Amino acid sequence: EPAQSDQDDAAVAEEAQGPRRKKVSSLRFNRSENGGIKNLTVTTPLFYANGAPHIGSAYPTIAADVVSRYAQMSGGDVHFVTGMDEHGEKIAKTAEGKDMTPQQLVDSIAGDFQGLWDKLNIRNQHFARTTQPKHREIVAEMWQRCLDSGDIYKKDYEGWYCVGCEAYLDADEMEDDHVCKIHRKKAELRREENYFFRLSKYWEKLTQHMEDNPDFLLPQSRASQVMVWLDKDNKRDFSISRASTDWGIPVPGDDSQVIYVWFDALLGYLSSLLRPEDPATLDTCLKRGWPADIHVIGKDIMRFHALYWPAMLMSAGLPLPKHIVTHGFLTKDGLKMGKSLGNVVEPVPLVENFGADAVRFFFAGCLSFGQDGDFAYESFINQVNSELANELGNLLQRILTLCRKNLPEPSGPDCLYEEAELQAHPVYRAALAAPAEVAAAFERFDFPAATQAALRIANVANAHIMVVVPWKKLKSEDEQVRGEALRELQVMAEGVRICAVLLAPVTPSVSGKVLE
Ligand SMILES: [Zn+2]
Repeated sequence: EPAQSDQDDAAVAEEAQGPRRKKVSSLRFNRSENGGIKNLTVTTPLFYANGAPHIGSAYPTIAADVVSRYAQMSGGDVHFVTGMDEHGEKIAKTAEGKDMTPQQLVDSIAGDFQGLWDKLNIRNQHFARTTQPKHREIVAEMWQRCLDSGDIYKKDYEGWYCVGCEAYLDADEMEDDHVCKIHRKKAELRREENYFFRLSKYWEKLTQHMEDNPDFLLPQSRASQVMVWLDKDNKRDFSISRASTDWGIPVPGDDSQVIYVWFDALLGYLSSLLRPEDPATLDTCLKRGWPADIHVIGKDIMRFHALYWPAMLMSAGLPLPKHIVTHGFLTKDGLKMGKSLGNVVEPVPLVENFGADAVRFFFAGCLSFGQDGDFAYESFINQVNSELANELGNLLQRILTLCRKNLPEPSGPDCLYEEAELQAHPVYRAALAAPAEVAAAFERFDFPAATQAALRIANVANAHIMVVVPWKKLKSEDEQVRGEALRELQVMAEGVRICAVLLAPVTPSVSGKVLE
């Protein structure tokens, strides 16, 4: 089964957008006076607690961790939120099948996710769990605010319901005979009296927001998809309660229904920002890091984040997130990953076998984040070996061996070079140019460009060391020749150090070892 590519999206995008849309070259960060990042709130999706984490959960989490580590290096006060979406019929059914209570199931799965994040060196400040008491209070307040705005009403509804999607399907989401396109299972005809959210009321405002903020949804090529959804012919409300399960947050004032998982889960982005001593109110969340600067999500949940979520926030009088950065699908050896194909990449053994930095380096440093990305063991191993082990690792090894043999310990920090000589040194020049380039690349979510710009220092040093061959010069009887070699080593060691610092958001352990 060939993987669905992004080319269709891109073609649609070009047609729909035309030359009118301003090209976005960077995300907008909050700056401090020195030009660094002042603060950043970045989120991953809240993962559905229905099964163990897969590589598709690790991918956006690595990206969010990279950008949050970068922001911290830049001096920023960072709120990095990841976590779990723990309600819904599907979870209740899975728990039943395992002879567990839903709470036991989600506790155990939340533990699996946290275990993986530890192994992957993910440094999140917040871990959202939608079964927590404060979260329930926040959701209830949100419901009340939307109700007060006149945006919640009750309606009898009949439609084709997919338990996998936990949603009624539109005609374009089903194949013949009401089979869900995603789950390949026949949807059930259900009739329920549900509460609805007046999404239709926000159609023009949402359209306006998309037009006024060309960097709201990134990459820009995907904005056209949202504009298609926002076509006036598609205008509709959405159901925000379920009577078919009791595993959820009860609708305030109506215990016969629970709040729809998406209405519930999206608020985890806010509730998880609260400190233990904080009252559970939406206004307090505004003091703790909301609005988010960046939601990192997969393109499969774009509809919830680009339509439902902003409309809910507008209804409640809350500020919108600044950017939604979407990534593509991951494939394995060019094929769609799936249980039926038996080609799922399991993240835990991958990290255990190769180490966190190798996995982080590949998924952040080698795949272009907005596009679909492919994982194959061969290219994974080759890229990590050639770029991290050979370019950086061997260079460091070489320099350290020569330094240990030939320099007194500890060696002073004084520069042995004359200023003019230094200015002309290729490694010095590369190291001087790299930081700005790396920063700019991180700030536009172009992590491969950031790692390449950092590694360019090592590339230059590797070429240079073969020209100056310091190990030969160090054997010379002539003190001046030996001094020359020591100066070379000093500059190259400093180049390696700067390279390691710049790579630290992607490869924190390797960088830490280099600095040691
Ligand atoms: Zn489905």
